[in-house]
Amino acid sequence: MQPQTLFTCQACGKPVPPPLYGTRQRNHCPHCLASVHADAAPGDRASTCRGLMDPISVWVRRDGEWAIIHRCRCCGTLHSNRIAGDDNLILLLSIAARPLAEPPMPLHQLEDFLRSQAAEAKMFRSETP
Ligand SMILES: [Zn+2]
Ligand SMILES: [Zn+2]
Repeated sequence: MQPQTLFTCQACGKPVPPPLYGTRQRNHCPHCLASVHADAAPGDRASTCRGLMDPISVWVRRDGEWAIIHRCRCCGTLHSNRIAGDDNLILLLSIAARPLAEPPMPLHQLEDFLRSQAAEAKMFRSETP
């Protein structure tokens, strides 16, 4: 049986089924995790922007639940959305790992940095009686 379609994703073009469980409103595509800028405040559908929102980051809420940070391509607004049970886990993990996979400096420089920090600390200790 083909699951019914809630909407077609504007980013990847795949059909998005209604949530499998719970009554929570689905606010992003489970395949590519893209969203649409429809809310001014969470859930109010009051924004007139309707720009595509890219998943740019993942953060962990105080209760341990993951949430996605979405950024609107049109106006730059940032939203935080809870993940859904059928979200693309590989994509979620790759978004979470991106800063580590692309460090701002070559990782071998970290060793030099730590060594210079240690040397500095030693120097500081020898200066203080
Ligand atoms: Zn999509
Ligand atoms: Zn927008």
